[in-house]
Formats: sequence, C-alpha cells, structure tokens
Amino acid sequence: MPPALDGALAPGAVIGILGSGQLGRMSALAAARLGYRCHIYGPEPDAPAAQVSNLTTVAAYDDEAALARFAAAVDVVTFEFENIPFATVEALSNLAPLRPKAEVLRVCQDRILEKGFCSRLDIPTASYAGVGSIDDLTHAVADIGAPCVLKTTRLGYDGKGQALIEAGSDLEAAWSALAGRGPGGLGMIVEAFVDFELEISVIVARAIDGTMRSYVPVENEHRNHILDRTLVPARIANDVANRADSIARGLAEGLDLVGLLAVEMFVTKNGKVLVNELAPRPHNSGHWTLDACVTSQFEQFIRAVAGLPLGATARHGDAEMKNLLGDEIESWLEILSDPDAKLHVYGKAEARPGRKMGHVTRLKPKS
Ligand code: AMP
Repeated sequence: MPPALDGALAPGAVIGILGSGQLGRMSALAAARLGYRCHIYGPEPDAPAAQVSNLTTVAAYDDEAALARFAAAVDVVTFEFENIPFATVEALSNLAPLRPKAEVLRVCQDRILEKGFCSRLDIPTASYAGVGSIDDLTHAVADIGAPCVLKTTRLGYDGKGQALIEAGSDLEAAWSALAGRGPGGLGMIVEAFVDFELEISVIVARAIDGTMRSYVPVENEHRNHILDRTLVPARIANDVANRADSIARGLAEGLDLVGLLAVEMFVTKNGKVLVNELAPRPHNSGHWTLDACVTSQFEQFIRAVAGLPLGATARHGDAEMKNLLGDEIESWLEILSDPDAKLHVYGKAEARPGRKMGHVTRLKPKS
C-alpha cells in the first residue's frame, strides 16, 4: 500500500468543480465512489454534472458573491473545462485550495503561451506566429507558407475559431471572419498546416508529491474538427509512443501540475511528434479508461485533486470509443442491444448537431 499523502482529503470532503458538463458529471460519479461530495458551479441549470451532484451553484463565472459562497462551502476547487475566465480562478485561488493552480490554466487557455511553454522545454510544435493585425497575418503567411491555419488564441475548441489558409486565400476575409470573435476581439495565431499521419493524445496524472502515471497513447479520429473515435492503443511504433509519453510527463512536470493533463499531438509521416494542444483536465480521448482500465481518468483526476495516491493506469483490454454527436444519440437502444457495448449518456436535453451527447466504448482483447 502506498502511504497516504500529506493533505489527503478524507471521504466526506467536498470537491468544488467549476464547469457542469459531461466531464464534470463523470468526475463527480468517480468522486462519489471514493466517498466525496461534489459541488458543481456553472451558469446553466440542470446541467450534466449538476444532475448527479446534490450541491450545485447556478451562477455566472463573474458573480463574486456566488464564487465566495462556493469557495467557503468546498475543501478544494478544480475545473472541468479551460474556458473559465482566468480572473475567476485567480480570485478563487485566494479563497480555497485550487488544483491545478491558476497558472496552469493561464498557459493552457492561450495557444501562444502554450506553444511558447513547449518551446522553452524543447518540445516540438508546428511553426507558429502570433498575429495582431491583417499586416501581421500577411507577413506570417509569407513566412510560414500556405497551407496554414489561422486560429483564435483563446476560446477555441472543437475547430471553432479556426480557418484554413491556402495559397491564394483571401486573407482579409479569413481575418475578419475570426478577428471579431468574443468580447473586444481575440488575439490570433497562425500555425503551419501539419500533414499528419495520425493524431494521438496522452493523458498523464500528477499527484501532489510529484508522482506521475500516464495512460497508453491513443489515436484520435476527428470529423468536422470534433473527436469522433478514439482507438486504443494508437497504431504507432514503440519509440513514437515513448516519445509522446515523455513529452506529456515533461509538460506536466514543467507546469508543476496537480491533476490531469491531456496532450494532443500530431504524428507526422516521418515519425515526428508535435504538440497541438494541452487540456489540464479529463479529456474526451480518455473516456475509454472508464471501461478498460484499473483506474479511469476521472478517478485519477479526483485522486490527484484530493491529494490521494494515484491508481494504476494499466488496461484490461484494447478499446474503441465512439462519440455520440447530435442525433447519433438516437441509436442508444440499438447500442444497448449489443451486450458488450458500454453506453454512457450525458443527460443533455437537446441534441444539437455536433453536440457531445454520449459515447460508447467497445473492448477488444489486449494486443
Ligand atoms: P484544435 O482545436 O487545435 O485541437 O484543432 C482541432 C483539429 O483541427 C485538430 O485535431 C486537427 O485535426 C485540426 N488541426 C488543428 N491545427 C492543425 C494544424 N496546424 N495542422 C493540421 N491540422 C490541424
């Protein structure tokens, strides 16, 4: 038995989670199994995480009075998505222990800070340039070359806030389509287009004593920029898998993370591994761990945040996870007619196109 870590929360403690989506829901379920209560804070009523937690605050992220009451009612605060306003987590960090710390969120909220952080650790990414004007954009495209991708530095996810720029593309149109997004407009980044062989991710957990445990690299297939399927393990050579794993561990350590970090990477046709994005929280590409691993990513997240020793990440089998997007959720009963399919439904009322409504995992013999 590993010794209990200093500062471990005992069963009965309350974990405050900012964000009330499916990641919060599955984390709250894992927390409940360890005897914790979760207090969910988010702006929407009847949200996926709130449905499974009896302590909830429905309030805006800038509601200072509600945040203060929330902080006073919990033993630790974490977050389940990274687009929480930075000022909110910074304010909370003065009122309650915050894991991971605010600085981790600051880096992971901004594509330029994220890539700069990778560069400082000598971790490769696609070439990039921050751009603040149409002039900058013209120079960056000339420098980096087409095709390239223009992205908002912040608040982008699932391909929102991105435009592909090809030779001869109308740069003014691309700029004005994205530059006005968000309050007061957002900074932008141009990235070289990576002609990747496949996309992979590694999820690593880091405990308060610095111990790390990671899951096997997985392969992610996107449709319309949204994760569609995760294949476990990724079909990559061992040396590529080892490199991806040490990149993820290096980033978690460099960030002094306590919690979970998902690192999305491109594997190029000549075997290079380039970091695309970081997410300091449970990740869609780790949902398979619920059904296939000794410790799921959600339990591992809760263990790290609660100051517990980490659990084993070994898998019982290989797996394939399929997201159920929009009206794909309508096949829930058909999925259940396969006794081996593990269905997860998130409790969202409205199946808008592309919305993550649930997922299904199918296990396979271990390779
Ligand atoms: P992101 O929001 O950065 O994770 O991008 C969503 C998806 O768009 C990625 O998973 C890739 O499939 C694609 N994508 C993003 N950036 C690039 C790039 N620089 N080169 C090629 N494809 C990209």
